Amino acid sequence: MSLLTELSEHLPGRAHGPGTTEYDAGRTVFAGVGEPAAVVRPHTADEVAAAVAHAAADGLSIAVRSGGHGQLPVDDGLVIDLAEFDTIEVGDDGLATLGPAAHWGDVAAALAPRGLGISSGDTRQVGVGGLLLGGGIGWLVRTYGLTIDALREVELVTAAGEVLTVNSESHPELFWALRGGGGNFGVVTRFTVQASPVDGLVGGSIHFDRSEVPTVLRSWREVMRAGGDEFNSTIMLMPPMGPEMPGGLQAGIALRGSEGELHELLAPLLALPSVTKVDLAPIAYGDLLEDAPPGRPPFQFVGGNGFAPELTDELLEAVAAAYARDVPTMALLRALGGAFSRVDADATAIAHRGAEALVVVNGVLPADAEPELVAAVKAGSDAALASTTGSYGGFEANRSDEITASMYPPATLERLRRVKAEVDPGNSFRRNHNIRPA
Ligand SMILES: Cc1cc2nc3c(=O)[nH]c(=O)nc-3n(C[C@H](O)[C@H](O)[C@H](O)COP(=O)(O)OP(=O)(O)OC[C@H]3O[C@@H](n4cnc5c(N)ncnc54)[C@H](O)[C@@H]3O)c2cc1C
Repeated sequence: MSLLTELSEHLPGRAHGPGTTEYDAGRTVFAGVGEPAAVVRPHTADEVAAAVAHAAADGLSIAVRSGGHGQLPVDDGLVIDLAEFDTIEVGDDGLATLGPAAHWGDVAAALAPRGLGISSGDTRQVGVGGLLLGGGIGWLVRTYGLTIDALREVELVTAAGEVLTVNSESHPELFWALRGGGGNFGVVTRFTVQASPVDGLVGGSIHFDRSEVPTVLRSWREVMRAGGDEFNSTIMLMPPMGPEMPGGLQAGIALRGSEGELHELLAPLLALPSVTKVDLAPIAYGDLLEDAPPGRPPFQFVGGNGFAPELTDELLEAVAAAYARDVPTMALLRALGGAFSRVDADATAIAHRGAEALVVVNGVLPADAEPELVAAVKAGSDAALASTTGSYGGFEANRSDEITASMYPPATLERLRRVKAEVDPGNSFRRNHNIRPA
């Protein structure tokens, strides 16, 4: 009997194969379109449990789809598409109950009338599920920490088909692992997250040409250091990609404070001769978010990211040098510290809490670039990141044991592997930054 027929018997009306809209929706993710054996679209946690138990009994790998902005296309096994779990409810205490397939843009819109928000990613279409399990570095990371720092509880379907309520008192070690350990421990069907005030924001962007990159980066660092927890910023270095896209630097800014404070804080940056455009004004949290492109751009990004304990002059010069190389290169520096750094390194699975910034450096190459060129560009990107430690899995499109090992310090990874051995000894949930059972 085919997998689809078997699943249809267990879960009538929930299993979908080729030629159906549900199959097409479940197999399509930001990174491309796969050809899984079947897509299951459950409506309840018990139906998720039935699908998981069936796949685990057959030794099938399970791919979980929430917002579809992290999963790679799946060409075998089962996709559990959580599209039906997209509710957003907010209590008077600001506790938000979120379905994993809700999108962060919709969460921002639902919380806005109360002056509340949840610091999540920068992009509206990214899903609650993948971002929340991976960490969540958002616009207000210095003000409120990572998205996982606001997580209070989840409902989890384990590989054994149990439905657990997991929080700091019930299954505390599993709750620790779920905050940063990704989709390794089961299927989350509900998240409870504490929202925070996001009223009184001012922000927007400052654009620079490419004439004095090291000076801009140093000035940005000083401004960022002078600002407190309420000041958040990312600076992006975009390569020239043709006449329509001349490249340049763009600092994204968000401050909970007044326009006067913002201009005072940014004065050294605004005074630089390479400033080409300033766009700063009062802004709603939801308007800080951007729309994702319709799918992954047709390039390969060759490099990686790392947490910078300190933004030294040497590191900034190395990033500027990588940006100036012959190969188009994009880089990004996101200010951390503040509330992000006040969380103990062992309180969640994201341990690099002492970092001053997250740094991303990627060469942008055609998908079919020669392996020698790819290797040379990778070596150049890695050299620019040499003084950083660890990496953030959310910004790593590829999957390998080496990448997983780079995401966690050895003791954190060992602890994650012990939790994995408890709840998923057969590694049913392996289509992710995989943590192998201890
Ligand atoms: C355009 C773009 C912008 C981004 N911007 C940011 C950003 O600003 N900040 C940031 O921190 N990250 C950012 N990311 C990374 C993003 O957080 C991850 O890719 C995340 O996994 C996407 O979540 P999703 O639910 O949309 O993805 P999905 O593809 O649905 O899920 C990704 C993976 O997460 C796991 N998973 C998802 N839902 C569940 C669940 N309910 N139960 C168990 N496991 C689950 C699975 O392993 C799955 O393979 C961005 C990604 C993209 C593509």
